Amino acid sequence: MAIQLVTTAAQLRTESARLLTQKGGTSQGLVPTMGALHEGHAQLARTAVEQNDVVVASIFVNPLQFGQAVDLERYPRTLEADLAVLDAEGVDLVFAPGVDEVYPDGEPMVRITAGPMAGKWEGASRPGHFDGALTVVAKLLHYGMPGTAIGGATGAALPAYRAYFGQKDAQQLALVRRMVADLNFPVEIVPVPIVRSPDGLALSSRNRFLSAGEREAALVLSRALRLIEDRANAHEPLDLESAKALVESQPLVELDYFEVVDPRTLEPLAENCKDTPFRGEGLALIAAKVGPVRLIDNVPLDS
Ligand code: AMP
Repeated sequence: MAIQLVTTAAQLRTESARLLTQKGGTSQGLVPTMGALHEGHAQLARTAVEQNDVVVASIFVNPLQFGQAVDLERYPRTLEADLAVLDAEGVDLVFAPGVDEVYPDGEPMVRITAGPMAGKWEGASRPGHFDGALTVVAKLLHYGMPGTAIGGATGAALPAYRAYFGQKDAQQLALVRRMVADLNFPVEIVPVPIVRSPDGLALSSRNRFLSAGEREAALVLSRALRLIEDRANAHEPLDLESAKALVESQPLVELDYFEVVDPRTLEPLAENCKDTPFRGEGLALIAAKVGPVRLIDNVPLDS
């Protein structure tokens, strides 16, 4: 394996600086993950490798963003397999710190407050989740910064710095973008489209907890989103209600929310979804419980 594993911030900084100098590179990419990697994560890594000279992926299951201890304990941990996935994509460095490295003094006293956009959709059923997620993303964005300037003593410049997030977690992506804009983080956030299995199911580390029957039932989520997407592309009314009825007709699926929202503010676009043809930009968001698993999915609309 060419890939290197580091577990401390100090090692990460030294090794990324060394690699950037060795390669004569001018850009560094960061791919934050919680491990249990699948093709969706691989796509993030692939995009980062295409666009940057040095690529760091992080693997950290962040206790701050889990409401219940059982969820945290149950989260799959598959480091060896994860390293192989990232190595195959050409990632240079994996940063897999322990909880003590990231939170040496226990829970941080100062945190990111994700604000009003965090209280709805996923945030409504997971209080504090996005404060915890943004706090660790802020830390990871700092850890992953290029550790060296480029261009020698005269005219030294900072390397380009990009971080990669999946559109699968659309609310997280919208919040990370707001945090970076509102707090002037020196990083470009690069969104990566959702990777699906051939039958349409959005890949997720949680899909492994679905039985065969539940997995089949879960396909109604992406089918309903496709319906909305097709109507938007055809400039038809979205008729969200009929798409909701399709999801609710599936007995193994317990729908939480299904809405069309503004992609930047996540506020519902109610008027556009009833009986007028859809125009403009939107984001159809869906969340449902299928058996023991909570699934989310979405599709961007542009018409
Ligand atoms: P996680 O390990 O679940 O925290 O996810 C790490 C990153 O991978 C996040 O930016 C996710 O949005 C992204 N991701 C997860 N699943 C997918 C997928 N199916 N397609 C694209 N990106 C994904």
